[in-house]
Amino acid sequence: QQRVVIVGAGMAGVQTAVALREQGFTGPVTLVGAEPHQPYDRPPLSKAVLLGKAEDSAFDVDFEALSIELRLGVEVTGLRADAHEVDTEAGPVPYDTLVVATGAEPVTLPGTEGVPGVHLLRTLDDAARLKPVLERRHDIVVVGAGWIGAEFATAAREAGCSVTVVEAADRPLAGALPADVAAPMAQWYEECGAALLTRARVAHVEPGRVVLADGRELPADAVVVGIGARPATGWLAGSGIALDAGGSVTADERLRTSLPDVYAVGDCASFPSARYGERLLVHHWDNALQGPRTVAADIIGETPQVYDPVPYFWSEQFGRFVQYAGHHTGAAELVRRGDPAGPSWSVLWLRDGLLVALLAVGRPRDLAQGRKLIESGAPLARERAADPSVPLKAA
Ligand code: FAD
Repeated sequence: QQRVVIVGAGMAGVQTAVALREQGFTGPVTLVGAEPHQPYDRPPLSKAVLLGKAEDSAFDVDFEALSIELRLGVEVTGLRADAHEVDTEAGPVPYDTLVVATGAEPVTLPGTEGVPGVHLLRTLDDAARLKPVLERRHDIVVVGAGWIGAEFATAAREAGCSVTVVEAADRPLAGALPADVAAPMAQWYEECGAALLTRARVAHVEPGRVVLADGRELPADAVVVGIGARPATGWLAGSGIALDAGGSVTADERLRTSLPDVYAVGDCASFPSARYGERLLVHHWDNALQGPRTVAADIIGETPQVYDPVPYFWSEQFGRFVQYAGHHTGAAELVRRGDPAGPSWSVLWLRDGLLVALLAVGRPRDLAQGRKLIESGAPLARERAADPSVPLKAA
């Protein structure tokens, strides 16, 4: 029977193993992960786990009962496609089918690598190091006002720390949302008592303080860097696998890679979206849940499925539930639904009478209805989109 080896025991890797069993695959499945911990879920790391409201976030999966062989604390260092083997410190591991699910790793702030008191937030170990930092209730500088920076700042304020967020752009979430959508979110920082310094750059970090490029000095018992993540694909160098310019594995519409018998899924892989007419690289949880089902079905050899999801994610920040579905581009018309100064509102992106994306703040019903509309491709009247008192449904 063919042997499936999955590299990376995060959400995408675990879900691939589980989906294979759910879909009836009976051959050997091996899950190899670099981290020593029982596989766990990442979103709680910047939320409940950080605040000590949850001990950990291990997946509720009985690997033994599912006959999934776990090899934890084992880093995969290379792929030799001709030999159908991956290399580890413990020796080569042969495969018939390989699934690359190594996720992403956080971008570091140049010059601060290894500096004591400078933290990243990606792993359970990172969260464990940050928990006592929060408990000390000291001055914390957060670098980057993206999703991770906002969630960490929320938790640190809740823990009673003094928080300053340093952001190079002129607003939060500059990489994800257009200026007029993200601008009201700057207010959220202020409301919760975190100082947000925009157009600000870190020059260097010294013990106890952060020095900005304009000379300002910020007291800092700890610095948390949240400036993005890049695909963890360095180990694939020299394997011959096709990578995008940003380093993600270039997968096709069935999440197959350029190498025979090798798939890629989750944060480490991009895929072509016919729905959006471009290649997407999605660094969100739902993609690491849905993609594995396509991979498992393809491995089993069922009727091939095309992977073309409506991307979805959520974030919990400053007491708000923020959700986004779809994928917007500058070509779409932006329609507001509710007052962005208020507690709940949405923003919709329409193109040619169709909904292509929406951002919902405290309006989960908008999200659910909008996501369905995007999936179905049914038209949405502009007036209906702009009226928060009526449901989002087809014209
Ligand atoms: P990962 O979760 O990164 O897992 C990859 C695994 O592969 C890791 O365990 C890694 O150690 C292992 N690995 C890497 N290289 C190797 C190697 N060479 N050999 C062996 N193993 C290797 N998304 C949302 O939609 N909503 C949220 O609220 C949200 N919150 C988040 C909060 C935090 C703090 C973080 C870090 C992420 C959050 N995300 C959120 C994003 C979401 O967690 C990711 O999209 C998801 O974890 C991706 O799963 P993955 O399996 O592709 O990658």
